[in-house]
Amino acid sequence: MSEQSVRGRCLCGEIRYEYRGEPVATAHCHCESCRRHASSPITTFVVVAKGRFRYTQGAPIAYASSPGVSRTHCGRCGSPIAYESDRRPDEIDLYIGTLDDPQAAQPSCHVHVAEQLPWFETVDNLPRYERGRRGNTPVRYGPR
Ligand SMILES: [Zn+2]
Ligand SMILES: [Zn+2]
Repeated sequence: MSEQSVRGRCLCGEIRYEYRGEPVATAHCHCESCRRHASSPITTFVVVAKGRFRYTQGAPIAYASSPGVSRTHCGRCGSPIAYESDRRPDEIDLYIGTLDDPQAAQPSCHVHVAEQLPWFETVDNLPRYERGRRGNTPVRYGPR
């Protein structure tokens, strides 16, 4: 296996995972559901092909936050781990704060900026999508 594996874990270390290769995308999500699940103004996800991902220790607990959507967390320490949707069955979105080295992935876009908090902004020039990224055109690049 020539591709480097990237590892991650929850706060307490009971859940551990790894993936190989480059992520599909790394997105800052501004939607309200992510905000509530992570209890954070924005949530950054590393989108990885499921075929390149595996849990190496433990299994997270799933919460169905809406039909066809599962958000997982560690049952012991509560760290949010992943987002999975029936609309993208081949991908898993990992909460970037769980990576051993969050610099292993570079953010590539912002999604759901329609729900962005008025007092929160970042200075990067990444594309901003009003809702989802797939099949859509950015509403702008850079801050409001
Ligand atoms: Zn944990
Ligand atoms: Zn979201």
